[in-house]
Amino acid sequence: MNSSKSALQISVVGGGIAGVALALDLCRHAHLEVKLFESAPAFGEVGAGVSFGANAVRAIEGLGIGAAYQAIADRTQAPWQDIWFEWRRGTDGGYLGSSIYEGVGQSSVHRADFLDVLATELPLGIAQFDKRAVSVEQSVGQRPRVTFSDGTCNECDVLIAADGIKSSIRDHVLSGLGAPLVAPRFSGTTAYRGMIDSETLRAAYRAQGIDEHLVNVPQMYLGLDGHILTFPVKQGRLINVVAFVSDRTHPNPKWPADKSWVKPTTQSEMLQAFSAWGDAVRVLLECIPHPTLWALHDLAELPGYVHGRVALIGDAAHAMLPHQGAGAGQGLEDAWLLARLLGDPQAVETAPEDLLKIYDAIRRPRACRVQRTSWEAGELYEFRDPVIGDHEPQLSSTLASRFDWVWGHDLHKDLEDARRLLNWKATPPAL
Ligand SMILES: Cc1cc2nc3c(=O)[nH]c(=O)nc-3n(C[C@H](O)[C@H](O)[C@H](O)COP(=O)(O)OP(=O)(O)OC[C@H]3O[C@@H](n4cnc5c(N)ncnc54)[C@H](O)[C@@H]3O)c2cc1C
Repeated sequence: MNSSKSALQISVVGGGIAGVALALDLCRHAHLEVKLFESAPAFGEVGAGVSFGANAVRAIEGLGIGAAYQAIADRTQAPWQDIWFEWRRGTDGGYLGSSIYEGVGQSSVHRADFLDVLATELPLGIAQFDKRAVSVEQSVGQRPRVTFSDGTCNECDVLIAADGIKSSIRDHVLSGLGAPLVAPRFSGTTAYRGMIDSETLRAAYRAQGIDEHLVNVPQMYLGLDGHILTFPVKQGRLINVVAFVSDRTHPNPKWPADKSWVKPTTQSEMLQAFSAWGDAVRVLLECIPHPTLWALHDLAELPGYVHGRVALIGDAAHAMLPHQGAGAGQGLEDAWLLARLLGDPQAVETAPEDLLKIYDAIRRPRACRVQRTSWEAGELYEFRDPVIGDHEPQLSSTLASRFDWVWGHDLHKDLEDARRLLNWKATPPAL
């Protein structure tokens, strides 16, 4: 890190996957001085799994943490290594089809392990904890200033808000753009989550004469107004389970403002929600004695991610429903592109406002499309797609190819487009 006067000072607010990934790439560049402010006393993630598509895995590699990621990531064993999920009927476990991405399939990791890898790579002194951003001020052409709840402030050249779906900085960006403010909205879907020791699940399936293949390969069970996913984490020692239930009786469902989005719940409540489903699902859920219940929220598509020298990334910009396993991956794509732009020495000669505008122009259309199609995926899985409904042949052919555009995205083309729009010199050797 360079602390000379010409260094560009970048402050990142929020130490989740998106913020830490960005900070650790930025702090490798000599012309950047990076600070990360996290509201919690330490980095932390929930004890659950997260799955990454091929696009996210490429972003992770581009951020320089590919080897560290692969050392902790799970991959389905051959000959099923290219399968993202197998799709099954919830009522009887009948096979409907598979989604396949050659070379990646399902790449998943325990969240806390992944954040640990990111945090370990971050040099000491970059992160400051117990720093809750409460407000931002910036005047045209001036450096933004963020104020924290302890009364301290930080001034920088570029401020990146990676502070999640409840972002404290999003209002500043939207009001700066003259746009209406956007609050998280409850989707009507809640999710029961749990982790199962894979040997426990294997034994339970064996005892009931259920094929152990369902433990070996990521599964998605579909039904009316519900679906359940399973995939391995911790090198296959644990199976991550998320069981979604949707109430579509209200057009604009509301989650009480004073009620937590995550709470412990009972196994009997979860089993009751899936009482009409088949044995494979029942035995799976019976292996989760203490599930938690999550109220799933997302954001409406924003009209902009950038105001002046302040930019939103990750869930602060585009929190989405988890139905394509793509939310964190979109945050990693944001981090990858911003790091390539800010990390280029030409960034020092470029007005930060112009650079951030290009980030917005490149990233927002794609992130919005992933957001939109994540909601649509939930409708499809739960037999509520207006065209397909529960028509199985159409479901299986749609599911076979509907994610290809998300996974096959060319990040380097994004970078080339951004550089062209910035009138920058030819691309330096790829990092
Ligand atoms: C049930 C479920 C399953 C999911 N599964 C997947 C999946 O399989 N694959 C996938 O890609 N995505 C998945 N997602 C989405 C994914 O979890 C999120 O997109 C991702 O974690 C967002 O990362 P982030 O860094 O943007 O935000 P966050 O993880 O929310 O991090 C924000 C950070 O900012 C800090 N912070 C908040 N406010 C402030 C403040 N005012 N000042 C300073 N710091 C602050 C927080 O403490 C936190 O550390 C899932 C989501 C859910 C709910």
